[in-house]
Amino acid sequence: MTGDQIIIFDTTLRDGEQSPGCSMNTREKLEVARALVDLGVDVIEAGFPIASPGDFESVSQIAEKFGDRTTICALARSREDDISRAKAALVSAQNRRIHVFLATSAIHMEFKLRMDKQQIIERAVSSVKSAKEFCDDIEFSPEDAARTELDFLCEVVEKTIAAGATTVNIPDTVGYATPNHYFKVISYLKQNVPNISRAVISAHCHDDLGLAVANSLAAVEAGARQIECTINGLGERAGNAALEEVVMAIRTRADYYGVHTKINTQRLYPTSHLVSTITGMKVQRNKAIVGQNAFAHEAGIHQHGMLQERSTYEIMRPADVGYVGQNLVLGKHSGRHAFRDRVIQLGFSLDDAAIQRAFDDFIALADKKKEVYDSDILALIENRLSDAADRWRLVSFHTSAGSSAIPTATLELQCEDQPVLCDAAIGDGPIDAVFKAMERIMELSARLEEFDVRSVSEGKDAQGEVRVTIDVSGRHFQGKGVSTDIIEASAHAYLKALNKADHERRSADAARLSPQT
Ligand SMILES: [Zn+2]
Repeated sequence: MTGDQIIIFDTTLRDGEQSPGCSMNTREKLEVARALVDLGVDVIEAGFPIASPGDFESVSQIAEKFGDRTTICALARSREDDISRAKAALVSAQNRRIHVFLATSAIHMEFKLRMDKQQIIERAVSSVKSAKEFCDDIEFSPEDAARTELDFLCEVVEKTIAAGATTVNIPDTVGYATPNHYFKVISYLKQNVPNISRAVISAHCHDDLGLAVANSLAAVEAGARQIECTINGLGERAGNAALEEVVMAIRTRADYYGVHTKINTQRLYPTSHLVSTITGMKVQRNKAIVGQNAFAHEAGIHQHGMLQERSTYEIMRPADVGYVGQNLVLGKHSGRHAFRDRVIQLGFSLDDAAIQRAFDDFIALADKKKEVYDSDILALIENRLSDAADRWRLVSFHTSAGSSAIPTATLELQCEDQPVLCDAAIGDGPIDAVFKAMERIMELSARLEEFDVRSVSEGKDAQGEVRVTIDVSGRHFQGKGVSTDIIEASAHAYLKALNKADHERRSADAARLSPQT
């Protein structure tokens, strides 16, 4: 371990979840929170409790379940009702933090808040003091800090530290900063805020210019000791700084940065996969660290070098990030014991019932497909994880199609433990017919915006992964499904997306607030 520890503050469940189409329900958030705890993040920003009853519920359940293993943080605007909701949501967390924010840039003060500088400072100070009555660990963010006049930023930071803030976060809310500029902002604070050593400086960068990770690292060089980031760089617009990139840059270039994190890097790839499955948001193939091609060396000259000495072209080993490739592991005759061992090696901690369900799926898959790869097993487990949270499930489907037939689909769906519902529809093709029948049963009308198929592993008998994005009354929802049968995978993906729309229809979450930090 080298030098100072960098605090990894994960905001996948708050800032990341605000990404269009990526909303998660409470059970899904709990799954992600569990993965983040296993990954070893220092702080989980679990949500914005005042935003909606659903947000409040998620934060309080995460606080209750994981608040003894990591710090659980709740976001609040600088308003008394926000802060008291955050306090109520965090009550059962042993380690808790309230994150208060208030805009300080001229453009926000003038157009959004209609407050002058003195009023801003008074509001920020009184909010920090109020939060401090509940817990000692308080973070304050001057929203849009990267565009805030420097001397005013220093004044706000100094006064909020004096009021009790233990972390001061400097958000580049709109993704406007560049590395050198951001370095100078953080350095200026270090030099000009007299009490700065009493708080941790935090970086929060957005990727609008593709600079979020670079800016976060520049902040570390200037003395920041917390980085706010999300798995896969999830987040509104171009997203936030990607946790896996920040962590691996710090680790791979420890020689240069001279700092370290507590992240268990072998959990990066499985966690990335889980978040992608639950949100439906795909990870691009050439994404750094966790993309499918991140460790593929195809150029002939590279392969030659790699065979002689891996470090010639490889700065990280796939195993360092828990990369799961095309390893052929198991076949039809592999026993339950071998399967369980493999699941544990892949980084999942499932209870006996969950292992049994996954094993049954595995046997069914091995019947259809000769060779089962690690990536297949990952897909099976993730399928089960993401299905558990849904109200509607697919009981059966039948399709008929051909060059001279009208494509039709007959479908059985069940909502919780109510009677099974059956309906049929015709469509442009069998998949379209399945989608239409599903909408009829669930009484939802959706527009398909994106439809994407890829194979999970190799061979003609490979499992197909289907991802869909749908539009229901102007809101976007994503879903993913995996099967050796493309129609079945499509049905699962569409049902997943419709389940999300159904969840939102039933809760008050449609009107939730989305903070800009
Ligand atoms: Zn943000």
